[in-house]
Amino acid sequence: MANDTSTTAVAESYVDGLTTFESFDLDPRLIQAIKQQGFSNPTLIQAKAIPLALQEKRDIIAKASTGSGKTAAYCIPIIQSILEDLANQSEPEHEIRSIILVPTRELSSQVTQFLEKLLVYCNKAISVANLSATYSPQVLGLILANKPEIVVSTPAKLIAILEANQSVVNLKHVRSMTIDEVDLILSYGYMDDLDKLENFLLVKKNNLQIFLMSATVNDDLNELKAKFCTKPAILKLNDDTA
Ligand code: ADP
Ligand code: MG
Repeated sequence: MANDTSTTAVAESYVDGLTTFESFDLDPRLIQAIKQQGFSNPTLIQAKAIPLALQEKRDIIAKASTGSGKTAAYCIPIIQSILEDLANQSEPEHEIRSIILVPTRELSSQVTQFLEKLLVYCNKAISVANLSATYSPQVLGLILANKPEIVVSTPAKLIAILEANQSVVNLKHVRSMTIDEVDLILSYGYMDDLDKLENFLLVKKNNLQIFLMSATVNDDLNELKAKFCTKPAILKLNDDTA
């Protein structure tokens, strides 16, 4: 991508240089993949979000500028938590364990590709499905029936597939839900789909860990916070509010 270098440069300006990824007690396979991405130290939002999500199991609401590294701030704890769950099971089976919602098909494939890069050393213990990559309901039903650990989708696509395949999709093992680019998701009118999703996931009742990521915060985000979060850690790192 043409602007890859410039976005990376932006993220590097957010790196504090003091905290290390090793200090988060991450699985060595995950650390190796992070290093392979050229990330030497976490960005500020990563340094705050990752330990709160992993050690304190907090819900995370992160408001931080574009380019501050929010994707890894939720992808790293999601993968680490799944690896820990798998390690605690004597005969781990494939299950859908995490749902990531994004506003566009493009972002859905970008996040999926990033997750796959972080998973290169995990030997297929964790698989990722990008529901926004195909239109065929049959194919999508099959993909979910095969239980990818992480599902990435726009809200509308996920709801359509769940409604069409209720009998084959098992969401009992879902432990976390992420809404990336919350501001865009809400401005695209996805609130109804999020309400429907609540009926499938029973987010609060099942105590799912929530990640809400945004560059801006407004009243709608407060509505999502009330709907989905339990005692969230609220991290605000925008330059203008520093
Ligand atoms: P945001 O979602 O906050 O806009 P991204 O997650 O898209 O930001 O990250 C922006 C850029 O920064 C990407 O190119 C990403 O690969 C890079 N990046 C993320 N974390 C780090 C890090 N710890 N060190 C160096 N670059 C990073
Ligand atoms: Mg982002």
